[in-house]
Amino acid sequence: MSTLEQRYQAVSTHISSVCEQAHRSDDTVKLLAVSKTKPAHMVETLYQFGQRAFGENYLQDAVEKITTLAHLKDIEWHFIGPIQSNKTRVIAEHFQWVETLDREKIAQRLNDQRSPALPALNVLIQVNISREDQKSGISPEHVESFAKFIEKLPNLSLQGLMCIPEATKDENVLAAQFDEMQQLLQQLANNHPQCTVLSMGMSSDLALAVQHGSSQVRIGTDIFGSRD
Ligand SMILES: *Cc1c(COP(=O)(O)O)cnc(C)c1O
Repeated sequence: MSTLEQRYQAVSTHISSVCEQAHRSDDTVKLLAVSKTKPAHMVETLYQFGQRAFGENYLQDAVEKITTLAHLKDIEWHFIGPIQSNKTRVIAEHFQWVETLDREKIAQRLNDQRSPALPALNVLIQVNISREDQKSGISPEHVESFAKFIEKLPNLSLQGLMCIPEATKDENVLAAQFDEMQQLLQQLANNHPQCTVLSMGMSSDLALAVQHGSSQVRIGTDIFGSRD
């Protein structure tokens, strides 16, 4: 059995080597440690190893951890789950990042419920890059109009794009979708130059995502072990 530290170091090393193969400096790819369902003490252990950004999608579980770990001042909590409109207040009050924004109504509520005393809530637009009917995310054609809507909201700060590609092992399909995301980010940055974040790539498709411009990979199981 490997320890949490060993798994974390192995993932970090893997990201570095993937960056090297893609001729990118390893400080251009950020690791989001997806700690959903895992206990606060594991998050705190990783924090002690230097990890700062953590991803959560189950709100109640997340808020308990965020409260327990409130003494870790520069920790960064990213909400990466589907957002129901009756949950926006809790998200606006507890998180620094929301990566799964895909509806104007939700953006408006997060803005209205975010205290102006806090720094603006950083948001990523989730894109349904595989254009599957059932899937979260807005269609690629609507990214720019949604970005314009978000930019009018003073308590939100648009930082870039996020996607979950099609559930396939076909690397050509995945590469095409990552490539399109990279182009969408470039187009977005023309009008919104602060948009530099491209959140894509998980354990299985990390290398491909980094080759196609990912700036943040989201890794859970490889660090924390499997979920119950
Ligand atoms: C759970 C989750 C991850 C991490 O998945 P693992 O398979 O545990 O590495 C990444 N992104 C999102 C949006 C998730 O919900």
